[in-house]
Amino acid sequence: MNLASDLASRSHCVKRQVGAVLTKDTRIISIGYNGPPAGTHNCDEEWPETGCPRDSRNSCSLALHAEENAILYAVKNGAQIQGSTLYTTLSPCIACARLILTSGIKHVYFKDSYAAYKGLASDEGVDFLNKFGVRCEYLPR
Ligand SMILES: [Zn+2]
Ligand SMILES: [Zn+2]
Repeated sequence: MNLASDLASRSHCVKRQVGAVLTKDTRIISIGYNGPPAGTHNCDEEWPETGCPRDSRNSCSLALHAEENAILYAVKNGAQIQGSTLYTTLSPCIACARLILTSGIKHVYFKDSYAAYKGLASDEGVDFLNKFGVRCEYLPR
């Protein structure tokens, strides 16, 4: 989780920096932080005053989430995601939760709550994962 926090600080996102680390058998197989696809936009440099274009949930409309980037990087490099464990500084949103379940990740640790950050009633991503057999739990540090 310390590494995930370090990675978060590399994010160019104006609003919220998130980092994720994917591990298997105690080894790191992939890492990621939130941001638009490489070589497209650096939100903090392009829109330092206004922030980047927002989607309906007031999230960056250009960025991949840290979890998405970690999973895609693993796929690109042929790492075996099945049975892996994900550490993320912010609990997964529902879209990432669907991706996490489908990719075969079995365990998720998160530091901060996405619902608390967004002012949502519940952490639907966490609930979704726990309901369908991916252990998703709070790890403060
Ligand atoms: Zn952005
Ligand atoms: Zn997400």
